[in-house]
Amino acid sequence: MKKIQLLVPAMPTADDLLPYLREIDRDLWYTNFGPLNARFEARILEDVAPRLGRENIATVSNCTVGLELALQSCGVGAGARILVPSLTFVATATAVVRAGMSPVFADVDERSWCLTPEIAARAAASIDVVMPVSTFGVAQDMRAWDEFAERYGKPVIVDAAGAYGNQCAGARADVVFSFHATKSFGIGEGGCVISPSAERISRIRKLENFGINTRLGLLEDLGTNGKLSEYHCAVGLAMFDGWEQVKARRRQLLVDYLEALEELCPGLQFQHRPPHGVYPLFTALLPPGCDAGAVSTELAARGIETRRWYCPPLSRHPALHTYPTASDLVTTERLGNRIIGLPFHLQLTVEDISRVAIELHRAITLTIDKPSCV
Ligand SMILES: *Cc1c(COP(=O)(O)O)cnc(C)c1O
Repeated sequence: MKKIQLLVPAMPTADDLLPYLREIDRDLWYTNFGPLNARFEARILEDVAPRLGRENIATVSNCTVGLELALQSCGVGAGARILVPSLTFVATATAVVRAGMSPVFADVDERSWCLTPEIAARAAASIDVVMPVSTFGVAQDMRAWDEFAERYGKPVIVDAAGAYGNQCAGARADVVFSFHATKSFGIGEGGCVISPSAERISRIRKLENFGINTRLGLLEDLGTNGKLSEYHCAVGLAMFDGWEQVKARRRQLLVDYLEALEELCPGLQFQHRPPHGVYPLFTALLPPGCDAGAVSTELAARGIETRRWYCPPLSRHPALHTYPTASDLVTTERLGNRIIGLPFHLQLTVEDISRVAIELHRAITLTIDKPSCV
């Protein structure tokens, strides 16, 4: 039985990289804001925010560092309270704590599974910054977040780690992307911050270079090493060469998946999201009475790898459970046990997808309402 893997990165090949690696050989410039870095940043802006300029983007070594530096640059001090959804990847919270700040966990919206401006508005009086997440690659409504930032006077930093290809930039809010190999746009490790504020980007550039003011040669700020090397930028430029195709194939994969599930595995629900998005992964909400753990074990026995993404919620991890919540987390808890991540990558054939749908249906039927699965 062929094993069906959960994730297989779609990255450029060695041959795709060669022209860019030769440029590095020629320039003898390997990191610290080199020529490939400048071109990669320009390409990203062209793609995401054509009306912005070089002063509005900083590439970083990964999204987690980008979130830390964006927090450190947004004008609040140590101990600031940062509203984050409880249903997200752990890095959203580790970035907050490592920036010397305190996460406050919010519930998510029933339909979008995201922290929305409406939810944040209810907590606005007791927090300093909001860090919404483009959960599972679903773009955040930047107009709504810009309005929120304006009305409440609180900075908004969007963790758009998995939403490259879907998420646009803000007019007030900052957006941080990940280029980890498992995201839609992968370069191995990497990320970027896009901000309407040239001042914040300038601070992030300094902070990712230890905090050194390179003009004066003085350490002005306590930063870190968060720079993106020329080698990673080479992968990024090669990735852009095939990006239109990758996007089209990811869109088609989603269409094929939804069609197969509708036919072969009825009774599932899905996160509300634009149907034509470019998503890095695929999740389904199992029917009530089902437990994603039991279903996942059944599927593993049949050669299908799945993942319980964002389970448990942040508020229940040992390293995070002492931080406060903004409200009860009813929706997060209700969704948490029933969200299952299914295989989603460009190596999947239509037959693989049918097999996933058939086996998922079987696993649900077998485990639903069993005592072990409540
Ligand atoms: C992947 C991911 C991150 C981490 O990105 P890195 O580039 O690996 O640091 C952060 N937040 C969310 C929501 C993610 O999905």
